[in-house]
Amino acid sequence: MTLHTFIDYFRHNTKQPPADIQKIPAQATTDTIEIHEQSNTYKTFDCRHGGPVWFVLNMYGTKTKRLESKTDCPECLIEKIKLHSIRCANCGYIILPGEDVGLFNTTRTYLPHKNKGTFADRGNNLIIGCTRPRCCQLGIHAVGTWTEKGFIPHHYENPTVTSDRHTTEINP
Ligand SMILES: [Zn+2]
Ligand SMILES: [Zn+2]
Repeated sequence: MTLHTFIDYFRHNTKQPPADIQKIPAQATTDTIEIHEQSNTYKTFDCRHGGPVWFVLNMYGTKTKRLESKTDCPECLIEKIKLHSIRCANCGYIILPGEDVGLFNTTRTYLPHKNKGTFADRGNNLIIGCTRPRCCQLGIHAVGTWTEKGFIPHHYENPTVTSDRHTTEINP
């Protein structure tokens, strides 16, 4: 399972109906991506590591369904997910490449996960947030996409707004 297969799979298997939103904790419940559950049968993956035949990942509190990977063992897959994903500055949940994102102005909004978030511009106040319903309630709306190359704005009026992948800059 490459990162892209994972993302496709994840997208098609974790959509929560709106009625379920209240059952999801408002804030991410862990600060790690780790195996939540796994098979007790093992195999060798293309990465040459051994690991469980199927596994469930917990990504900062968002659980996947059972994943069966061909290419990457769980640890290698987790490394790829960590490398290319970020966390919402408000709720702390994961943002994967391809997801629509919005921007919070850190001078105007208190953001519980600000120190784990990713700024969309260098040394400025715009930090990336997800477009889950709770975060949209704070007034955020999709203005760009998170990609493996960083933040890409939907409108090209401000092409300088990009970010170094994965840098977390904290304003003093
Ligand atoms: Zn591996
Ligand atoms: Zn969020």
